[in-house]
Amino acid sequence: MINLNHGSGYRLPTIADAINGLVDMALVTERASQPPRRYLGASALGIACARALQFDYTATPKDPGRDFGGGILRIFAAGHRFEDLSIRWLRAAGFDLRTHRRDGGQFGFSAAGGRIQGHIDGVVVAAPPGVGMAVPALWEHKALNHKSWQDTVKRSVAVSKPVYAGQIAIYQGYLDLPAPALFTALNKDTCELHHELVPFDGALAQRLSDRAVTVLRATDAGELLARHSTNRDHPECRRCAWQDRCWRMP
Ligand code: SF4
Repeated sequence: MINLNHGSGYRLPTIADAINGLVDMALVTERASQPPRRYLGASALGIACARALQFDYTATPKDPGRDFGGGILRIFAAGHRFEDLSIRWLRAAGFDLRTHRRDGGQFGFSAAGGRIQGHIDGVVVAAPPGVGMAVPALWEHKALNHKSWQDTVKRSVAVSKPVYAGQIAIYQGYLDLPAPALFTALNKDTCELHHELVPFDGALAQRLSDRAVTVLRATDAGELLARHSTNRDHPECRRCAWQDRCWRMP
């Protein structure tokens, strides 16, 4: 048969398009059915922009087309599966790694009347002989792509991933786990594992805690916090789900 569409740029949808469309729609619908978060998540307190934190805390609607799509939701779900694997492997290696309370809930903390909350990946309560780490210690896990993983291995989590370092510091502070945290990064492409001990950075934890209070106070007062940049094309702004809304505002 002559392909009359040849050269028109039109491509008939494939079975992969059809199935992936259904999968993504199901994931987006599932997420939309979950109640919105009503607290400031401690994991994000180290991001560059306090205004973005405020938008997130107040559940400000994201710009059209900027909410999480099926692709990113699949990446999040895969991250949880990778974390399950790392937990299993560490336990098999002899770590007593606790990840859930007796009632099945995640360990975490709540401050400022529940308006600041954080949920941790786990706590190492005993390490195999020869590992040489103090316990109990916070355990934080990330599954990273190859490039990101290599950079973390080379430069350490504190330098390569300061937002994760902030997350670790504030969790250590609020959960009173001052021993160096065990950070595990799994390479999603090769399944290599990287581990490093992260000493407690009390000054960083305090700075981020103060930042959280600033966001809450400004929100209570009906004030919008300053942008972190004067350039809407800053990389953080280009990644930000509120970019259009933010730069329309005074
Ligand atoms: S667009 Fe930029 S300045 Fe505005 S909230 Fe987002 S990151 Fe902050």
